[in-house]
Amino acid sequence: MQRSLSENVATQKKANAQVPSPGLHRARHTLASIAHKRGGHPGTMGPTVDRLIAWEMPLSDATDRVSPEGAAVTPASVGRGSGPMDHHCDVLVVGGGINGAGIARDLAGRGWSVLLCEQDDLASHTSSASTKLIHGGLRYLEHREFSLVRKALQEREVLLRSAPHVMWPLRFVLPHDASMRPVWMIRLGLWLYDHLARREFLPGSHAVSLRDSPLGEPLLPGWTQGFVYSDGWVDDARLVALCALDAAERGAQVLTRTRAERVVPDVGGWRVELSRRDAGTGRETRRLAVRARAIVNAAGPWAEQLLRDTMGVPPEAPKRGGAPSGAPAGALRLVKGSHIVVRKLFQHDHAYIFQGRDRRIIFAIPYERDFTLIGTTDVEFKDDPAHVAIDADETAYLCRELGRYLRRPIVPSDVVWSYAGVRPLLDDAKGSASAVTRDYLLQAQARPAPWLTVWGGKLTTFRLLSEQAADQVGALLGESRRAWTDTAPLPGGDLSDVLDELRDPASDITAFQVQLRQRHPWLDLGLAKRWSRAYGSRALRLLDGVSSRSDLGAEIAPDLYEAELFYLRRQEWALTADDVLWRRSKLGLHYTPAQRQAVADWFAGLGQVGGQAFHHSELTRSAAV
Ligand SMILES: Cc1cc2nc3c(=O)[nH]c(=O)nc-3n(C[C@H](O)[C@H](O)[C@H](O)COP(=O)(O)OP(=O)(O)OC[C@H]3O[C@@H](n4cnc5c(N)ncnc54)[C@H](O)[C@@H]3O)c2cc1C
Repeated sequence: MQRSLSENVATQKKANAQVPSPGLHRARHTLASIAHKRGGHPGTMGPTVDRLIAWEMPLSDATDRVSPEGAAVTPASVGRGSGPMDHHCDVLVVGGGINGAGIARDLAGRGWSVLLCEQDDLASHTSSASTKLIHGGLRYLEHREFSLVRKALQEREVLLRSAPHVMWPLRFVLPHDASMRPVWMIRLGLWLYDHLARREFLPGSHAVSLRDSPLGEPLLPGWTQGFVYSDGWVDDARLVALCALDAAERGAQVLTRTRAERVVPDVGGWRVELSRRDAGTGRETRRLAVRARAIVNAAGPWAEQLLRDTMGVPPEAPKRGGAPSGAPAGALRLVKGSHIVVRKLFQHDHAYIFQGRDRRIIFAIPYERDFTLIGTTDVEFKDDPAHVAIDADETAYLCRELGRYLRRPIVPSDVVWSYAGVRPLLDDAKGSASAVTRDYLLQAQARPAPWLTVWGGKLTTFRLLSEQAADQVGALLGESRRAWTDTAPLPGGDLSDVLDELRDPASDITAFQVQLRQRHPWLDLGLAKRWSRAYGSRALRLLDGVSSRSDLGAEIAPDLYEAELFYLRRQEWALTADDVLWRRSKLGLHYTPAQRQAVADWFAGLGQVGGQAFHHSELTRSAAV
C-alpha cells in the first residue's frame, strides 16, 4: 500500500522519537567493535554515538546531519570561561577544503572531539577548482623540488588505494619535439619520476611513436615522438566530501555555511563565535558560541586573513627565500589558475601534457565521459578569493596553446564550462608564479592559545599533511595519539567486503560495477557506473531494499532520483542544487538549464515545507552507518 509523503514523514518522526533504528543498532555495534579493537569501550569514541543519534533526527529537527545542540561535552573539553557555550570541543578546524576536511578526519579518528566549520559549502573554493591530479608533479623536478615530488609520489598509490571510486590511475602522453627540453633530460626526468618512490600498480614510463599510435591521432602531423607516463586522477570535490563524511562518522561535527567570525583566547583555549547562514538566501540564521582547546586554521587562501584579522595573531614578516623551512606567517602568495571544458577532443583514455610557448604546462584530460578538461593558467591574484573567475585572456591563451598541438583547433565559443581557483602558495620569493613552491608548511604555536596554521599544499599531499597536523595538534594538547590513515579506506573505498579478491584500484572498481549490476539487474550501466564511481561500496547501501527504479522516488532530472538527493542532503551536507550539480557530482555539465532548474526547484520545495524527512528512510539511515 502506498502512503503519502506526509504520512511517511509523520510516521518516521514518531519512529525516530521512540526506538533506535536498525541502522543505529548497527552503528552502535560497529562503534563498540571499533572501540573494542582499540582496547576501549564505546564511550572512548567520544561523541560518535551521540552524533549518530543526532543523524537519526528528521531534517526538520536538525538542518544538518549533526546538530550543535545535540553535542556531547567530553570530559577533555570541559572548560571554565566567560559566557554560556553552545558547544565545547578539543579542536575547531576552520575551513572545509581538502586540508580542513582531511585534518578533521584524522583528528576525529584519533579520538579528539572535533568541530569543522566551513563558511560556504564543502570544497566550494580551491579544492573543487584544481586540475584534479594525484601527481608528483613532473615539472617540479626542473625546480629541483625533489623532496616534494618524492613525498607526493609516495602518497599517490596510498591515496589511489584508499578511494578507488573517486581516484584512479591515468596515463599521460607528452609529445616532444626539438624545441623542447632535450630528449636525454626528459628521459632522465621520467626515470626519476618512476623511481623516486615505490610503485606497486602504476606502470612506468616509455617512449612512444605518435606517428602510428592512436595517441597521435588527435595531434598535428608534426608531432611524431613522445613519452607516456603514469599519474592519478581525483574527483577533488568528492574527495573533500568523503573526508568530511569519514570525520563525521568518527565523531566530528561538520557545520557548513558556518563562518568563524571571532576567535579570541579564553580560559583553557579559544572562545569562538560562529555565524550560520541560510544556504539559499545567505542570511544569518544563528550565532553559536564555541569553546575549543585548539584552533586549526585551514582556511586556504584566507589563512593569513583568518590568523591576522579573526584570531588577532600578528603575522611575522615573511622569511624571504626561507620557505618552506622557515616560519612564514604572512607569506601566502595567491596565484589564480583557470580551466576550460570543451566537448570531447579525442577518443582514447590518456591525458596530454603540453608545453606552452612560455614553457608552462597545460593538460588536456578526458573529463566526465563526454568532455575534455584543459588547464591551467598561472596568474598573480590580489583580489578577494571568493570572487575569482577566468578572464578572456586566459581562455584565449588556453585555446591558442592547444592549437599548436591539435588537428582540430578550439576557439573560445567551444567552451561549455570553465572554472577558476586561487592557489594559496607558500611565498618562497621566486619571481614567476609557476616557479613558486607547491610544498606546504605547518606552523604550530601554543600562544596566545594553541593554534596550527596550514600554509600552501596540494590535494595529493593532503593525507600526509593531515597526519602531520594531527601529530602537532596532539603535541599542543599534551597527548600524542597514534596516526591511522595510511591504510584506512575512505567511505565507499573498501571494496574488500564485496569482491573476493582485490587486485589494483582500476580493476577493482570495474569488478565492483559488474557485481553491482549482478545484484541489481534492473540498474542500467550508466547509473551503475556513476554510482559506483561516486559512492563506491556505499552504492550498495543506497540500493538496500531497492528493487526497481520506481523505488528510487521521482526522477528529478535525467538519472537523478529523489533517493540520491535525500542521501546527499542527509549524508553529505548538500543544501542547494549547486552543491549537488557542481560539487557532489558534475551532473550540471550534462544537464540543460531547465534540468538544473528542476533540481533547484526540488531543493526550494523542501525548504517551503520546512524540510521533510527522507522519502526512503531505511536507505538513508543505513547509509549513515
Ligand atoms: C588551478 C589549480 C590547480 C590545482 N591542481 C592541483 C592538482 O592537479 N593536484 C593537486 O594535488 N593539487 C592541485 N592544486 C592545489 C590544491 O587544489 C590546493 O592545494 C588545495 O585545494 C587547497 O585546499 P585548502 O583546504 O587549503 O583550501 P580551500 O579548498 O580553499 O579551503 C579553505 C576553506 O576555508 C574556508 N574558510 C575561509 N575562511 C573561513 C572562515 N572564517 N570560517 C569558515 N570557513 C572559512 C573557505 O570557504 C574554503 O572553503 C591546484 C590548485 C589550483 C588553484
